[in-house]
Amino acid sequence: MAIKVVPSSTGRRTWEIRCSGCDRRLLCSVRAQSSAVATARADGWVMNERILCPACEQLPR
Ligand SMILES: [Zn+2]
Repeated sequence: MAIKVVPSSTGRRTWEIRCSGCDRRLLCSVRAQSSAVATARADGWVMNERILCPACEQLPR
């Protein structure tokens, strides 16, 4: 999955979730990866084996 921890200037753990369809990224400053995934889902992202942002999710496949 295109999700990883990235360095953050705030010192908090930050997860970067990258869309498979475009260059859009979502940053989540939460402790657990599962929390980052939940945050992305709440934001309209598709978090399956393929990660898609809300915009790409709307495109016909
Ligand atoms: Zn996208």
